[in-house]
Amino acid sequence: MTGGARMGVPFVVAAPSGTGKTTVCRACVGRDPRLEFSISHTTRAPRAGERSGVDYHFVSPADFRSMVEESEFLEHASYGGENYGTSIEALRVPMEDRGHDVLLEIEVQGAAQLRDRQRNARFIFLLPPSMKVLEQRLRGRGTDTADAIDRRLGVADRELEAIRFFDYAVVNDDLENTISSVLEIIAAEREGSQAAVEMARARHDRQDVHTAWLSGGGSRRD
Ligand code: 5GP
Repeated sequence: MTGGARMGVPFVVAAPSGTGKTTVCRACVGRDPRLEFSISHTTRAPRAGERSGVDYHFVSPADFRSMVEESEFLEHASYGGENYGTSIEALRVPMEDRGHDVLLEIEVQGAAQLRDRQRNARFIFLLPPSMKVLEQRLRGRGTDTADAIDRRLGVADRELEAIRFFDYAVVNDDLENTISSVLEIIAAEREGSQAAVEMARARHDRQDVHTAWLSGGGSRRD
């Protein structure tokens, strides 16, 4: 980084599976030229249309293990029987070389590791409109068996507990509003003025949003 250049901020976005975080994250990166997507490493196979070096770095289990042994990851976790991790390089290049902010779309175990290790990171939790809607979305996809859906809902319950260590929360009940909210949080933190951050915190405070979501029946499935 050249002298005096700005150092980017990592923004961690997590959400229960089915909340729509990939769509939200991709839209945010597409609309903010100073925001880049953190490209993770994974051992899972590419899905149709996914490209290595763009969506993920797709690696073998042996390569992933050797990266773990060489301490190349800032965080890593297993999810659905596969390994996922954010390398030190995935953040260093955009943040230090380009002074850009980085969006990390990761699951909650990895987010918890970053909470301890990456002091400058900011944490945004996306909530589904309600657990009932989440269940309907998972069933509506038609890709999973009833058992697999029950397992995912169980995971979603556990993932929701992690909301307590996040800074911000946004309910994804309207895609455009959600994207605007996430971009507003990023812009406020980037600007760094206390007034801007306080305003973003007041509008998207994790505790307030979570309490309103619970009292609106967000956690009920029946
Ligand atoms: P998918 O296989 O559907 O792309 O991702 C499965 C889960 O792994 C998602 O919750 C996704 O956010 C998460 N994930 C993707 N990359 C990483 C990563 O680098 N670290 C961690 N901890 N989770 C990740």
